[in-house]
Amino acid sequence: MSKKFYELTPDERLLALNLKEDIRLSLSSRQSPVNAQMVENYISDFRMPMGVVHDILIDEQHFSVPMAIEEPSVVAAANNGAKMLSNGVHVIMADTAMIGQMLLIGAAGVDEFIDLHRDEIFAKAKQAKPSIYKRGGGLRDVRVRNISKTETSVDFIIDTKDAMGANIVNTILEAELPLFEKFVPLGVILSNYATNQLVTVTGDVDFERIGGREVAQKIVALNHFSKNDPYRATTENKGLFNGISAVVLATGNDWRAVEASGHAYASRDGQYRGLVTWTILNGKLHGELTLPISVGTVGGAISAMPDAKQALSIIGDVNADTLRGVILSVGLAQNLAALKSIASGGIQRGHMRMQYRALAMQVGAKTDEITAIVSRLISLSYVDASVAKKILMEIRN
Ligand code: NDP
Repeated sequence: MSKKFYELTPDERLLALNLKEDIRLSLSSRQSPVNAQMVENYISDFRMPMGVVHDILIDEQHFSVPMAIEEPSVVAAANNGAKMLSNGVHVIMADTAMIGQMLLIGAAGVDEFIDLHRDEIFAKAKQAKPSIYKRGGGLRDVRVRNISKTETSVDFIIDTKDAMGANIVNTILEAELPLFEKFVPLGVILSNYATNQLVTVTGDVDFERIGGREVAQKIVALNHFSKNDPYRATTENKGLFNGISAVVLATGNDWRAVEASGHAYASRDGQYRGLVTWTILNGKLHGELTLPISVGTVGGAISAMPDAKQALSIIGDVNADTLRGVILSVGLAQNLAALKSIASGGIQRGHMRMQYRALAMQVGAKTDEITAIVSRLISLSYVDASVAKKILMEIRN
C-alpha cells in the first residue's frame, strides 16, 4: 500500500509535488532536520531577511535588536527612530500573567462553587504543572466574567514566567476540567488578549532631532487622526507592527498572538484607534505606547529553533519582561520614524531606493549590477519593470 503524503520524508514529499527539478533541488537544499520536527508535511525552510536595530537606548541600557521582515525600509526606519529617541525609552511593566478561559453556558452558582473549592482548584493547577511552580509561577487567581445572560468565562490568571505560556496555560486548564464537570464546560483555551501583561513604553524626543518644533507639531496632528479615523489607525498600527512583529518573529515568538492582542486592545473602547500617542510635553515630543504583549525567551519555537536562539542572543541574555520592553521600544521607534517621514514630505523618497533594489532583482539583475540600476532608476520620474529591464540590458551591452 502506498504511503500517505504525511508519512513521506521531506524529499519524497517534494517529489510528489511534481516541481521543476531546479526548484525541487533548491527547496531540498534548504531543509533542516530541526525544523522538520516543527510542522507537519514539512518540505523545506522558508528564509526571511534579518536586519538589526544597531543601537536603541532602553532604560539606560544599549541594545541591538534583530528584525526578521521582508519589507524594504522598515529596518532603516527603525534605526532612524532609535536615533531620534536618543534620550532613551522607558519601560513600565504592569503585570506578567496569562489568562486561560473555561467557557461555560448557564453557569449559575459558579462563583460560590469557586469560593468553596478554591483550595482544590489551586492544588489541581500545581499538580498539573509542578515545574512552573518551582520557577515561581503558576495559578494566581480565578475570576468569573459574565459575558452575556447565558455565557460565562471562568478566567484563570496564570504566571508562566519566561515562557509565552500557551501550552502551560492549556495544560493547567485541561487539568481543571473534571472539577467543573457539573457546569458542563464547552471548552478550555488560553486567551490571547493578554490584558494582564500590559507594557508601556515612553520616549521624549528633542525637537532638533526631528527637524524642529513644526515637524513635532505635525507628528502630533497626524497621530491624532489615528485616534478618530479607523482608516488612518489601521495604517498607523500596521506600521507599528512592522517593528513589533519583525522582532517577535526573529526571536521565535508567536507574532499572530501579539498582533491579535494588539488589535483587540486598539479597539478596547469600541472603536479601533492608533495604539501610540504623541503629544508635546515639557518642550519635547513625547511618545507613549501601551500594549498587552505575551512573549517568551524559552519554550515553544524559541527553544527548538537555533535561528531563534541565535537571534535572541543578539539582544543578550534577557528574560521575557526585558524582551517585552525591547519589542515595544522598537515599535515606538518604528512609529516615530514613519510619522516623521510623512510629516516631512512623504515616505516614498526613503522607500524607493530599497524598492528599486527589489525591482532590479525581479528583472534578473545580478548582485554586482543592482547599484548601477538603482542609481539610474532614482533619477527617473517614471519607473516600472520594463524600464528596469531596459536599463539592465543597457548596462550589460
Ligand atoms: P512550552 O510548552 O515549550 O513551555 C515552556 C517550557 O519552558 C515550560 O514548560 C518549562 O518547562 C520551560 N522553561 C524553562 N525555563 C523556563 C522559565 N524561566 N520560565 C518558564 N518556563 C521555562 O511553551 P509555551 O507554554 O510557552 O507555549 C508557547 C507555544 O505555544 C508557542 O509556540 C505558541 O505558538 C504555541 N501555542 C499558541 C497558542 C495560542 O497562542 N493561541 C495555542 C497553542 C499553542 P520545564 O519547567 O518542564 O522545564
